[in-house]
Amino acid sequence: MKKVIKELKPYVPEKTLDEMKSELGLSKLVRLSANENPYGTSKTVKDAVVNWAYSQSNRYPDSDATELRQLICQKFDLDPKQIVFGVGLDEVIVMLSRVFLEPGDVELISSPTFSEYALHAEIEEAKVEKVPVLANGGIDFSGMLQAITPKTKLVWICNPNNPTATFETVDDIENFVKQVPKETLVLIDEAYIDFVTEKNPSAMDLTKKYSNIVVMRTFSKAYGLANFRVGYAVFSKEVAEQVQKTRLPYNVNSVAQVAATAAFKDQAFVADVVEKNAVEREKLQKFFDKVGFKYYQSQANFIFFQYEDASGLAQYLLENGYLIRTGLLPNWLRITVGTSEDNQTIIKLIEKYLG
Ligand code: PMP
Repeated sequence: MKKVIKELKPYVPEKTLDEMKSELGLSKLVRLSANENPYGTSKTVKDAVVNWAYSQSNRYPDSDATELRQLICQKFDLDPKQIVFGVGLDEVIVMLSRVFLEPGDVELISSPTFSEYALHAEIEEAKVEKVPVLANGGIDFSGMLQAITPKTKLVWICNPNNPTATFETVDDIENFVKQVPKETLVLIDEAYIDFVTEKNPSAMDLTKKYSNIVVMRTFSKAYGLANFRVGYAVFSKEVAEQVQKTRLPYNVNSVAQVAATAAFKDQAFVADVVEKNAVEREKLQKFFDKVGFKYYQSQANFIFFQYEDASGLAQYLLENGYLIRTGLLPNWLRITVGTSEDNQTIIKLIEKYLG
């Protein structure tokens, strides 16, 4: 076995809600720790999945995810050859690490950010270098530029960033990319981009201009399809062709393709989710202002906030039926923005906890 695997600290997935409820003796538990969609999934997905031709179960799925690919290309004006699908963005992160990192290469990340970038770099025996975020939680682009050397193969930009929820403009990203050597790939993880309420937030168009840019999207968040595991990366055509060589031929199954296709067609559902999220996000941020919690301005469906007794507060919320994310930074907690009802309860609980 590779030495690196023996020493690897694995990603810890969420326990099932049933498992947690029985452990804690709770009748109700709301998970606000995984940035899932609290509004469920478009109703059209259910029909599409139920009507899927079960008789096709013995056949391999469409390896190209043709219909879904076409829809995405139409919406973002892309060439079909630019897209590589994955079993969630999780699998896309694995593919990118596998394709671009050799032992001894360097991957550059902003810190804190999504833990899977570093995990998969380690598996490829690459070195991970971190540039701390700025005081406002944003990415330190000039620090990142200074840290790049000929050994730097990948640079991750999570936008909005998990866990800080902060957002970088396309202009700032393009200005950064212009200064990055062409041999270094800039990976822009837009898992939460749908929740951004500022105008034209996506860097998708930059994939047509720069061969060293990759933009990644998922159906797990605003589309409410986390269980179906569909994500994709958009590259320049030449790079996509190389990455396709490593993709397992039938990675995205037909039911997942059907679900994602139906979800993508129902943009009204996504718009509604985004609008509700923005309202509830604002309520929660105002509440944090009121009680004096430090937090970063969120453009996502979660908020990262600081409280001196973070684990005590998280435990109190858990005992009262709300699971939030601990362990990302000492004294910091990440909470997914829930429904209006959940938000109200959370606010009352925190008020009570603070006395
Ligand atoms: N990127 C980021 C920033 C995430 O937060 C997540 C999910 N937690 C993922 C990628 C992976 O998402 P999925 O595999 O569900 O598409």
